[in-house]
Amino acid sequence: MLPIPLPILDPNRPQDHPKEKCGVIAVWGHPRAAQLTYFGLYAQQHRGQESAGIAVSDGTRLSAHTGMGLVPDVFTHSRLEDLGARGGAGAIGHNRYSTAGGSLSCNAQPLLESFIDGQVAVAHNGNLVNAEALRHYFAQRGSLFHTTSDTEVMIHLIADPEQRLTVDPLAATLRRLQGAFSVVFLFADRIEAARDPWGWRPLVLGRTPEGHPVVASETVALDVMGARLEREIEPGEIVTLSDAGVTSRRFAPPAERLARCVFEHVYFANPASEVFGQNVLAAREAMGAVLAREAPVRADYVMPMPDSGRSAANGYARESGIPYREGIVPNRYVGRTFIKPSQEERRAAVRLKLNVVSEIVKGRRLVIVDDSIVRGTTTREKMKQLREAGAAEIHVRISCPPIKHPCFFGVDFATPHQLIAHNRTVEQIREFLEVDSLHFLSLEGLLSTMKHDAPDYCTACYSGEYRIDVEHPTIEQAVSKEQLGMF
Ligand code: SF4
Repeated sequence: MLPIPLPILDPNRPQDHPKEKCGVIAVWGHPRAAQLTYFGLYAQQHRGQESAGIAVSDGTRLSAHTGMGLVPDVFTHSRLEDLGARGGAGAIGHNRYSTAGGSLSCNAQPLLESFIDGQVAVAHNGNLVNAEALRHYFAQRGSLFHTTSDTEVMIHLIADPEQRLTVDPLAATLRRLQGAFSVVFLFADRIEAARDPWGWRPLVLGRTPEGHPVVASETVALDVMGARLEREIEPGEIVTLSDAGVTSRRFAPPAERLARCVFEHVYFANPASEVFGQNVLAAREAMGAVLAREAPVRADYVMPMPDSGRSAANGYARESGIPYREGIVPNRYVGRTFIKPSQEERRAAVRLKLNVVSEIVKGRRLVIVDDSIVRGTTTREKMKQLREAGAAEIHVRISCPPIKHPCFFGVDFATPHQLIAHNRTVEQIREFLEVDSLHFLSLEGLLSTMKHDAPDYCTACYSGEYRIDVEHPTIEQAVSKEQLGMF
């Protein structure tokens, strides 16, 4: 058995979960579009807590406000009202977690730029595999970049004559992008919302009770805005929101096999959302039920790791007939910026986040359910707490397969060597966690809970099978002439 080095607790990343991706919102025609966008961003806070921003149009000019921090930190009441007063025609918004470009205030979105045809603001969820190549191409031609974000290349493409002088500059721009993008563009007179041909990230179209069109990453944002879900924006589609109504066109046919991110269902999306046409909470319960069938065990309680393991634990408990019981209580007041200079203090911070109720766990055989393990350090610390509180047996059940490979499509897992499952067997991970048994949901089991055909989901972080060539990005059109002829 290989010795397993103990990963070091990171002072700034005590949580044992990947960083969230981004979220986008767009509202057209509503007199309080900025305020509505604010509520949508609030509902999507889980998709990015690093920065937030809103850009508005008054019909001729764009204005924006962005900042670092949570939505309510970035937007005071007066700032929002001020922005709203400068808008009125439409607004787009963005919650950000940096998956490309780093955590810098200049990278906060929407990015707002002027070019020869006017102004444009852009908010992007996803990650472009060929952003570096495009950046290099433009930098060599003398273009100046204001950010380190991959999203900025979209603006350079739109402004470049090669795209700008075509019949449909936006479509030509989008065809040059490789990777994941659910993106909204605000122009003075319209919003354009588009989704990459593989459909990695969700994007939905809805309508407010007054009939104003809205776009959001997740349906929870529509709910908060009082809007009704109309449909998903299709992979390869551009939807335009303007005073003329809602129109649709394609910039590319959908990929032969789609690549919906299965991890949206496992961890990222809000349980109340409908993602890729399927409720997230119900999907997580189904994962828990399959997990119970794959790895049954005699136990007294099924216990979730709060909050991420709750739905799967419910499903496990129902399927197994073992009572569901909460015995790990989160401390909601531990912030991300808590300073932890020494290893001991970092360990204390992990304990601070979760308290174990010894009256419940003492002498009990526990099935602990969580959605995923990334680094394993926090999970190990929590298992230690359970032992110290007197748990008789600990059986860990994870509602997705081991994460072994990096994501290039908008999710910031640790680097491969920091992933607990990278080059380790399940038995080695069990030893590291010091638990009695450990089981990860199989990939087949996970995909069996999904609504669409298994090949239409991305599972690269588990399988290492990437849907596009991530090692050799190009700056050429991602859609071939033959494919273009298909639609
Ligand atoms: S690699 Fe994993 S996290 Fe990234 S898009 Fe694919 S399934 Fe989602």
